[in-house]
Amino acid sequence: MDAPLERTLVLIKPDGVKRGLVGKILTAFEEVGLKLVGLRLVQASRDHVANHYPNTPEWIRGMGEKTLNSYAEHGKDPVAEMGTDDPMAIGEIIKGWNIDYLTSGPVVAMVLEGYHAIGVVRKLCGHTLPLNADPGSLRGRFSSDSPVVANALRRAIQNLLHASSTVEEAAHEIRHWFGEEGLCSYRRADEAVLAGKDA
Ligand code: ADP
Ligand code: MG
Repeated sequence: MDAPLERTLVLIKPDGVKRGLVGKILTAFEEVGLKLVGLRLVQASRDHVANHYPNTPEWIRGMGEKTLNSYAEHGKDPVAEMGTDDPMAIGEIIKGWNIDYLTSGPVVAMVLEGYHAIGVVRKLCGHTLPLNADPGSLRGRFSSDSPVVANALRRAIQNLLHASSTVEEAAHEIRHWFGEEGLCSYRRADEAVLAGKDA
């Protein structure tokens, strides 16, 4: 059976770049054994960022529903906060805020390769909402943002990172940021040890 070697796309969002956290974030991925196979610093256009996300009706509705759940959890009235309690309309508002956020400065786009890379990277990033993220995760260490604060300020949640969540999402996002030939192939010095082939 083939071992599950995966590639995943990570963005260090503009808050991470502007706060000088690029080195610490890269280190967290490198030291767990993930291989950096693509890396760029990009000031992305609104159009490019819009097409990074799936933008399907299900995805937009899902964003709205997650937001409604966190309002319920914090006892907030969605109509007072967002002017509506329709998940589709809330999803559309958040989509626009995400475009503002990801174009508010440069992002670092990278592709990481490793066994279970998609899940390992999501674990290192932590929960989407920094307030709920494990304190050892990157989002938990470096942010305490929440939807209640973010939405009161009419902006996206600043959570430092994007990381692909499925194999399909990773394939789309890697092509979107790196094209067909933008990645490098090489051996890490510790590759044999990490793979347990050095005994
Ligand atoms: P993740 O980035 O963990 O995969 P999602 O794909 O659900 O999370 O959401 C994409 C991004 O949209 C999040 O990283 C966050 O920056 C932003 N976001 C999600 N929910 C909200 C919300 N309720 N209010 C503002 N921004 C949000
Ligand atoms: Mg996502």
